[in-house]
Amino acid sequence: MKKYRVTNIVFDLGNTLVFFDHSYFFNGLAEREKKLSAAKFKRYIVKNKLDIKLVSGRMNHREFFRKLKKKFDLRIGYSDFIYFYSDVFWENSAMKRLLEKISRIKKYKLFLLSNTDSPHMSFIDKNFPYVRILNKRVLSYKVHMYKPQKKIFRYLLEKHKLNPDNTVLIDDVKDNVKAAASVGMHTIHYVTHKKFMSEFSKILKLK
Ligand SMILES: [Mg+2]
Repeated sequence: MKKYRVTNIVFDLGNTLVFFDHSYFFNGLAEREKKLSAAKFKRYIVKNKLDIKLVSGRMNHREFFRKLKKKFDLRIGYSDFIYFYSDVFWENSAMKRLLEKISRIKKYKLFLLSNTDSPHMSFIDKNFPYVRILNKRVLSYKVHMYKPQKKIFRYLLEKHKLNPDNTVLIDDVKDNVKAAASVGMHTIHYVTHKKFMSEFSKILKLK
């Protein structure tokens, strides 16, 4: 049997390192703009794939704001809008503790691989400093690729010269886990922290 040791740990961000719920954005904005329906607003964004355009870096936030402002006749200004857009995260304390702990063990290389955009990333770095531990990052909006596209996993491996046999991805989205496995990486589907910890300790002990 082939021997390997997992030394590279790749973390997803949303609903892995920090929790999020975009309804805070839709509902918060709808509450502020009395005429706005949160459901219609959300539907418009999803139907026009504005979320995908943002994370793949094909649309910037000024355009996103202008488009929505025009369509829904919004009164809010750009910076308040971006605040509503970004303030949708909260800490995953168990992951915070784990990340702080393993970052002190020098034998692991840690990475962040996230479908995200620039306002969300800045908001997270500012409000959840433990995420800053991960300074080796592949961010979808910068590389114009996103999970579960296989090419973003290959890009990560090539850029950081990682052997997939020595690399594990931790991600809450099943399709991302499947795509990572298809390029040869070890994977853990992050559902509950307890289940994750049992798989994680097994994988790190593999010889
Ligand atoms: Mg996620």
